[in-house]
Amino acid sequence: MTEDLDARAKELDREYVFHSWSAQAGLDLPVIAGGSGATVWDHAGNRMLDFASQLVNVNIGHQHPAVVKAIHEQADLLVTVGPATANLTRGRAAERIIDKAPAGFAKVFFTNGGADANENAIRMARLHTGRDTVLSTYRSYHGNTGAAIVATGDWRRMPNQYARGHVHFFGPYLYRSEFWATTPEEESERALRHLERVIESEGPATIAAILLETVPGTAGILVPPPGYLDGVRALCDRFGIILILDEVMCGFGRTGRWFAFEGYDVVPDLITFAKGVNSGYVPVGGVIISDAISATFDDRVFPGGLTYSGHPLAAASIVGSIDAMQDEGIVEHARRIGTEVIGPGLQALAERHPLIGEVRGEGVFWAIELVSDRETREPVGADVIGRLKGALVSRGLVPFSADNRIHVVPPCVVTEDEAARALAIYDEGLTSVEDDLLR
Ligand code: PLP
Repeated sequence: MTEDLDARAKELDREYVFHSWSAQAGLDLPVIAGGSGATVWDHAGNRMLDFASQLVNVNIGHQHPAVVKAIHEQADLLVTVGPATANLTRGRAAERIIDKAPAGFAKVFFTNGGADANENAIRMARLHTGRDTVLSTYRSYHGNTGAAIVATGDWRRMPNQYARGHVHFFGPYLYRSEFWATTPEEESERALRHLERVIESEGPATIAAILLETVPGTAGILVPPPGYLDGVRALCDRFGIILILDEVMCGFGRTGRWFAFEGYDVVPDLITFAKGVNSGYVPVGGVIISDAISATFDDRVFPGGLTYSGHPLAAASIVGSIDAMQDEGIVEHARRIGTEVIGPGLQALAERHPLIGEVRGEGVFWAIELVSDRETREPVGADVIGRLKGALVSRGLVPFSADNRIHVVPPCVVTEDEAARALAIYDEGLTSVEDDLLR
């Protein structure tokens, strides 16, 4: 019976569901029927450690009872309501978010996810400044809608370039420096000089916003070097440019801080969020708006909106999630487990495994960068990543991969024991692939 449900789920999926970012023929996707904390299972009860947090969004872990309860209670009260209403739960969600934001942030605009959060932040920046151009980095992902996908730097932009006014530049990435830098300080200084030249060349008076992931996520968990983000802030101030920090992936606990930018000497003008704010229990995202930008729309119509903006089930899940994260010290836990267990564990793997070129990250946000040669830093090919993913899955771990990297991104609630088990699985998986390659 249980075996049948897994087979049936696959059959229905193959027959009727059209999937993202994929050629559809031949897809054979894993079945996930249930979960708890950092563990998921299929209908037959086969358990896996979710070290991808699905799409790096299940920060609070699967099926957190307080969040499930908050959704249930709201469902009993009112499952849906239009956006042009005052709703108590929505107000409470916005209040919770503003409470976590720095001083000088007034309001929250709710969207359905991260892409439309960036879309609306760009809209606000353009209307506020009266300028058009948006600068963002090549190594970035900002979502799959009109402006957000063209703001994206990686390959996903190229087949989707329908929006106008986007210019890209290189951000810092010391391991593969575009600037021939050998120290974080050099990388930071030269990346800032490059950005300054791009601003000057595009014409500062035409630039509405610089949109950055505080810590670029899918691009490789590129923790910015000291001085970089405050340098970008200074350039924005000098040229009257709005700084939008995309905290969709790195926000709400992932780095071991509520917002990743709290680790740097920078305060943006607009903050976009989604994923970790409620761990995707109900789709939601949004823009946290500074006082100055909010004031622009006091007497001027904001020309944007969504039927489900501030949906009550999403709002309830945000309240439940932020309260539970706060009460249970989940963000602090993520920081500690990163510093004391995952970080040192991955460093130890890097010492043992010639396939690892670099490990980097913080909190529950780590990348293992795989190379075929440590000297040249030649990235491994898709075949090696494919084999390693297979080795990890067969040992009971759901991996996250991007290009030549495995990202170690469990829920913030991952336990020491689970982290230790996962580290042992990465170790065995790497050994098996290295053994194969030497054969
Ligand atoms: N911004 C960042 C940094 C992301 O990682 C993502 C998704 O992975 C998005 C935006 C888009 O979010 P969504 O898929 O909810 O539209």
